[in-house]
Amino acid sequence: NSFSDPQLGLNGRLLHNISKAGLKKPTPVQRHGMPQLVAGLDVMCCSHTGSGKTAAYLLPIINSIVGDASASRSADKGSGSSSGKENTSGTNPTGLILTPTRELAMQISKDANMFGEGLPVSSFAVFGGQLLRYELGKLKEGRVDILVATPGRLLHLLSEFDVLTLGKIKYFVVDEADEMFDRGFFSGIRNIVDQFLIPKEERINALFSATFPNQIQYFAKKQLRSGFIFVV
Ligand code: AMP
Repeated sequence: NSFSDPQLGLNGRLLHNISKAGLKKPTPVQRHGMPQLVAGLDVMCCSHTGSGKTAAYLLPIINSIVGDASASRSADKGSGSSSGKENTSGTNPTGLILTPTRELAMQISKDANMFGEGLPVSSFAVFGGQLLRYELGKLKEGRVDILVATPGRLLHLLSEFDVLTLGKIKYFVVDEADEMFDRGFFSGIRNIVDQFLIPKEERINALFSATFPNQIQYFAKKQLRSGFIFVV
């Protein structure tokens, strides 16, 4: 039960950043959730704020991006970009995290950049209420590996502008799913998934929620690959 457990295979610099952030031992949701995500399995996690859920999904995502980046760098002798993106204009992220609120979106993106410090990984948050022009400028640069978004703003960006594609998503996370439901965001999420995301079989999916009423269980069954693990 340690972040340096070989089974997790976390990058050395990432371990340094974890320790710098004051995380000593994995919390239960990290202990049970991280190995599943590292192994490429889908998870439905029962987690409340303060459980350490953010790191539980961010660390496997960052580690995967960093691993892929170093593999592609050695493959093309150092000329590769941070995550092997082919397009020079626009963002084509590896990780997509949906959250119900702007505060949570900002916090997750900040955590991702903190854990990713000194590593070839970069996170950015888009959310309703933030200057659209600022988001479009950042997305056009195309250096976002982990995109954190509220569903309404993400749908707006995807349907009205040509700065973002979701064709390379390897990790898809829905955080605070019960809060998403309460705010009426499920139809927006379904639109994003159905119109803009690659099929769920081609990505690793995680759903985090504090409660599991029927509608959340149904949603999880639709959005996760069959055989997903329920982490309590
Ligand atoms: P979260 O549940 O993701 O909102 O995290 C709540 C807080 O717990 C954050 O401030 C984290 O920095 C902290 N935290 C996350 N994982 C750990 C850990 N393994 N040990 C101590 N604190 C942690």
